[in-house]
Amino acid sequence: MFINATTAGKHDEQRAKSTAAGNLLGDGDHFRFGPTIFSNYAVLPKIGSGDLSKRSSSSAFSILPLGIFGGLDESSLSAYMLAPINSDRYICLDAGTIRYGLKAVLQNDESRRLFPGVQPGDEDQVLQQNIKAYLISHGHLDHTAGMIHNSPNDLRANGSNPSKSIYGIKETIDVIRDHLFNGKAWPNMGNAAPESNPETFQIKTYKYEVLKPNTFPQLIDQTNMKVTVYKLRHVFPVLSSAFLVEQSESSSTAPAILYLGDTGSDEYEYEDKDKTQKSTYMKTLWKQIAEKMMSKAIDLRAVFIEVSYMNSQPTNLLFGHLTPKLLAVELDILRTKLGGGNERLLDNVIIIPTHQKPDKNLITIREEIQKELSLKKYKFYFPQQGAVFYV
Ligand SMILES: [Zn+2]
Ligand SMILES: [Zn+2]
Repeated sequence: MFINATTAGKHDEQRAKSTAAGNLLGDGDHFRFGPTIFSNYAVLPKIGSGDLSKRSSSSAFSILPLGIFGGLDESSLSAYMLAPINSDRYICLDAGTIRYGLKAVLQNDESRRLFPGVQPGDEDQVLQQNIKAYLISHGHLDHTAGMIHNSPNDLRANGSNPSKSIYGIKETIDVIRDHLFNGKAWPNMGNAAPESNPETFQIKTYKYEVLKPNTFPQLIDQTNMKVTVYKLRHVFPVLSSAFLVEQSESSSTAPAILYLGDTGSDEYEYEDKDKTQKSTYMKTLWKQIAEKMMSKAIDLRAVFIEVSYMNSQPTNLLFGHLTPKLLAVELDILRTKLGGGNERLLDNVIIIPTHQKPDKNLITIREEIQKELSLKKYKFYFPQQGAVFYV
C-alpha cells in the first residue's frame, strides 16, 4: 500500500476520504508516474492516492522533511523535523540539509501554517526558535553537514539561553567533536575539547548529550518528547543508531516513531574486520520494539528506515545499507517478534523508506518496494522535501 506525498492545497477531495489513520489509501494501491517534480532532474513516481498531508483527529506528530536523500544532492540530505501535534518545539532527526529544507518548508502553504507569522525568508527564525535539539544517527556528512553549515546562525535567541543539545551514541558524538566541530574542519561550536585540538575555544552553541543504548527513555531538552537509542551496524567499524521518540506527556500508551539511521542487515554486516562474527543489532532492535508495542508502552505511528540500493546491488557492495528485499526481511522479523495475533499492531504503522540517491535508480528502488510481495501488507509513504505530513 502506498501513500502519496502531495503538495499542500491539492487533493482536497482525497483528503476528505482520508479521515482516520486507518483509511489513508483513497482509491487503492495505484502506482503511476506523475508530475511530482521537486528538483531539476528527479521526476518521482506518485504512488497511491492516500494523503498524510492533512492532519486528522488521530494525528500524533507533525513531520517536516528538510532533506530526504542519502547522498549526491547536497540540497536534500537526510533531515526530518518532528514535533508532537500542536507543539512548535521540534527535534531534528539527522541534519544533512537544513537551510534548503527550511526554504522549501516556508514556500509550502500547508507547512508554513505551522509557524504563524513566519514568512519565506525567515528560515533563521525557524532554525533558531523551533529546532530545539538535534538527534544524529551517525557522523557521516550526509547526516551532519546541514547542522555544521548553519551553526554560525543557529544562535540562541538571546545570550542567556542554554546551548542546544546534540544527542547521539558515544561513537557519533566522538566523530562530531573530534572530526567536525574540532576547530580545524570547522570552528568548535560544541562544549567539549576535541582529542586533537584540546586548546580550541569552545563556542558552546551546542552541548553534547551522549545517549546510552537500550536504556530507559531520556527526556529531550526543551521538548515534550523522550528518546531511547539503539545501536545499528552501518558497515564495520562504523556504528549508526536508531531513535525511538515518544511523546513524554502521555498518561498511558505514548505515541511514538522509530527513526533508523543508515544500517545494514544482520545477514551481511559483521562485528569484526575478519568477518567472523555477524551483527545482531537489528534483531535486538526489533525484539525491543515488539516488546514495547505488545506491552502497550508505545503506540508506534511510523518507522523511518533506509532503503539505499536496488535489489540488484551485489551483497558484497552493500556498504552497510538495505535494499527493498532486505527491508522486507527486516519488517518480517518485527512481525515475527510480535507474533500471536499482535501483527495487527503493524496495520496502521506508516513505513517511510529513506536515504535513496536521486539518480537513475531512484524510481527503480521505489518500484521494487512496491513489487515486493511481502511488503504489500504495509503502508508506505515517500516524503517530499518541505511538505509536512502527519502520523
Ligand atoms: Zn547516509
Ligand atoms: Zn552513513
